[in-house]
Amino acid sequence: MQRSVQLSCLLLLILAASAPAARDRSGECSARKLAVAGADTRCRLEEQERAVRKHRAPSFARCDDRLAAKYARVERALGSSCPTLGDMGAVRAASQRYVDGLAVTAQGGLHCSEDLGRLELGTPPSHPPPASSQPVGSGGVIQLVDGIYMAPGFGNTFMVVTPEGNVVIDTSLSLFAPTHVKNLKAINAGPVRYIILTHGHADHTGGVDMWREEGTQVIAQREQAELLHYQNRLGGVLQHRSYEQFSVLLGLAHLPFSPPDAPVVDYGGEVFATTTFDTFCEFRLGGLTFQVVHTPGETYDHLSVWIPEYRIAFSGDNIYGSFPNIYTLRGTKPRWALDYVESLDRVQSWNPDILAPSHQDPIYGAATIRARIQRYRDAILYVHDETVRGMNAGIDVYTLMNTIKLPTDLDVGEGYGDVAWTVRGIYEGYLGWFDENPATMYAVSPQVTYRELVTLLGGPEAILARAAALATAGSYAEALRLTDVVLAADPQNHAALETRLTAVDALLAASGNINEQGWLNGARRTLRAQLGL
Ligand SMILES: [Zn+2]
Repeated sequence: MQRSVQLSCLLLLILAASAPAARDRSGECSARKLAVAGADTRCRLEEQERAVRKHRAPSFARCDDRLAAKYARVERALGSSCPTLGDMGAVRAASQRYVDGLAVTAQGGLHCSEDLGRLELGTPPSHPPPASSQPVGSGGVIQLVDGIYMAPGFGNTFMVVTPEGNVVIDTSLSLFAPTHVKNLKAINAGPVRYIILTHGHADHTGGVDMWREEGTQVIAQREQAELLHYQNRLGGVLQHRSYEQFSVLLGLAHLPFSPPDAPVVDYGGEVFATTTFDTFCEFRLGGLTFQVVHTPGETYDHLSVWIPEYRIAFSGDNIYGSFPNIYTLRGTKPRWALDYVESLDRVQSWNPDILAPSHQDPIYGAATIRARIQRYRDAILYVHDETVRGMNAGIDVYTLMNTIKLPTDLDVGEGYGDVAWTVRGIYEGYLGWFDENPATMYAVSPQVTYRELVTLLGGPEAILARAAALATAGSYAEALRLTDVVLAADPQNHAALETRLTAVDALLAASGNINEQGWLNGARRTLRAQLGL
């Protein structure tokens, strides 16, 4: 008995001691195999280099043999704690992809891959950053650093000048593009070798055809084609809604919906890209490295550009001088808050000295940029997490729209995006439109009930009186809702339209949000026309 107790104690001791040993051996296996893979990449790079020097095709047979022999040796030495790979095709292919990419990039070619590890982070800037931008040329053009210029507009256009030709990043709205092209080409009229589109919105793609020359490569993330098709398919309604939202801001005329006899759908939009990629793309031009990375947020095709020699990041629309438009009133597929957070973290990891967004002036200084990005992504994450917490606790969307506010230290302003719209955007982005109310399941609009109410009350007078009182008391949104009830029964009711105009005017005067102003201006224009003003 005593002997068996002693034995089992001994066994426990051995087991306890051998468990970490097994772990250590499998760790050692991974480390040694990684070292072999690294040596294999070096072997391939050396062969590639020799082949280029001697003007012959590379032969990697020697590297293949060495890789197989070294893996077998590691597996033999470490036994069962080292999984036998047998076919090393995956390792060999990854290594070869890396070498091919480097070879293409080193010769100035464009190389796209899934390999974010190629991002250059530690390079000290070969062009030390200035403290600020300088005005140059005409039309408000600024020089960000020697050789990089920005034409400001609703959608900035950037031009990077190199001795081997120029790179244009975003091309603005077609309204601004001719001026941008003229003013930037007046600074440097070199050939446009590449156009990089941070995403497929019209204020970034509007000037592609004005910049494109024979042989210009246009780079976009692979999802851009789908976004352009989507925008084209819904062209009638999206164009109407975009003009409604932006017409006053951009001084444009009101656009109607497309006529009912227009083609039902058009599945294909114009795709600008000559090269698309999933995760990462890079090319070298005139001594500069352009690294292009998928950073979804504002759109699912969104990308950012990193030029390590300047330590400058072009961040497109994922950050600007307001809380982001995570739900835009002109209508959009869901924009995922967590995509923004991850993409901003990506740009943050580059530790840029200059940040060049598409809708504001460039920002200088690594510490300033770091603080700005951190606060922005924290604000987005806060609103996301509070919304999800509320959803999981069964709280309705209106309550959350009313209660979720940015804490003071995360208050990045709501001049463009709006937290309440974002809360609803996240809520319905995740769950869709159904609110668990059985009445909502059926195609009976609230207007049907409103008409019933007006009839039951013997006419609109009581509702109109209350709506006017609410407007006088400053409850403008509530007044708008009550006029909805009357207008459902009588769309031209003069008193209802007047109260509505009073409320819209007051909301407009109080609004500091460009998009809210756009829609209020649109409503105001329509109401004034209805009232004959
Ligand atoms: Zn955009």
